[in-house]
Amino acid sequence: MADNEIVLPSQRLATEEEFMPGDNTYVINGEVRASQVGKAFFDMINRKVNVISPKKSGVILLKNAKTATGEVVEVRDDMAYVEIFMLDEKEISGTISAILPFAYTKEKGIESIKEAVRIGDIIRGKPLNKNIPVILTIKQKEFGVIFARCSICGTVLLREENVLKCGNCGNIEKRKLGVYMVKRNGTKSQRKE
Ligand SMILES: [Zn+2]
Repeated sequence: MADNEIVLPSQRLATEEEFMPGDNTYVINGEVRASQVGKAFFDMINRKVNVISPKKSGVILLKNAKTATGEVVEVRDDMAYVEIFMLDEKEISGTISAILPFAYTKEKGIESIKEAVRIGDIIRGKPLNKNIPVILTIKQKEFGVIFARCSICGTVLLREENVLKCGNCGNIEKRKLGVYMVKRNGTKSQRKE
């Protein structure tokens, strides 16, 4: 973890022995984690790690954006609505509305939009146009859901091969997965990625 690295909610920043929790962070199991999107800032003098949000206008950034990250806010029969809050590695001021058509989520084993994404998921995809609403695709391997919570108990889900598993209640959920952010719960899994 380096200074100025973009972090997502729940991402591990340091252990509590290394750094104290600063702005926009929290501690769980002795680990300091980010509570929001932003840049990690390691305050070496006070031994504190903070998360700072560098906001830019999304409409300007949209012109050159290669990736868009956002939250799924609604799932319909054949598409999902997404609120983009980050373009490439930059958090934007406000959000930009986007549509994710089912046709652009397709992957073997995913048979409906409801199997691809769920409300509250954080997804990363590629913007296909420069207008609002932005049309997103998550077809490529690196794109898809990058952060999700258990639909039963709300715990952050962990990736286990091609499914997501809840470390709290054991629930297993399917998604169209991208480069998933939460790789371990910090206490149990030693599995290599
Ligand atoms: Zn659960």
